[in-house]
Amino acid sequence: MNKLDRDIQTDPIKIVSAEFFTSAFTVQQLPEESLPEIAFAGRSNVGKSSLINALLLRKKLVKTSNTPGRTQSINFFIINKAFYFVDLPGYGFAKVPKEVQAKWKHLIEGYLQKRKTLKAVVLIMDSRHPAMPNDVQLYHWLSAKSFVVIPVLTKIDKLSRNEWEKSCRECARILAISPESIILFSATEKIGRRELWERILEFMDVNDRSS
Ligand code: GDP
Repeated sequence: MNKLDRDIQTDPIKIVSAEFFTSAFTVQQLPEESLPEIAFAGRSNVGKSSLINALLLRKKLVKTSNTPGRTQSINFFIINKAFYFVDLPGYGFAKVPKEVQAKWKHLIEGYLQKRKTLKAVVLIMDSRHPAMPNDVQLYHWLSAKSFVVIPVLTKIDKLSRNEWEKSCRECARILAISPESIILFSATEKIGRRELWERILEFMDVNDRSS
């Protein structure tokens, strides 16, 4: 049995279905609040799509791209017909024109402001550059609004084991949080999946956890 097989067997949730639901390009296009939602946020190219696909064990459900800042919509995926994964547009790509950045900010904030069904926001950061100014800004904004934030350092496979702790400590210091609350992740090596799932499920009232 390889590592991935083991990981799947010990997953705290069985993914029966994972489908694209809808895209919202404007606040008006957001779907009605219904099932619980988990949102995923991060800088452009941080590895957000890869992380969601790795969690769901789907290769291309969320399209990955090497063109930073291309996604300008909020994309909803319905999982096990029980909850939504919400993929927020990547932020912080310098080459995106100011007016487009302002539009994204409006869309992201519009979604986050009044989403009663939103249970937690997974804040994805690059383990090689933990807690960049845009990440810190979003973290504080979310915390001030009392959102649950799950901080994740991804692409951890690009660092040596010695550097894992350093990256984690640095991130914890900048965000003024405990290093234990940060999840280390790798989409390519499938590291951290179980831990992240467990954290996500803590905040959701889905009754098929053990199925
Ligand atoms: P997004 O723009 O945040 O959705 O980022 P993507 O998921 O498209 O990933 C951006 C680039 O980083 C792609 O070339 C991915 O193959 C790569 N990538 C994403 N996650 C990982 C990871 O955990 N490890 C490594 N080594 N590369 C990754």
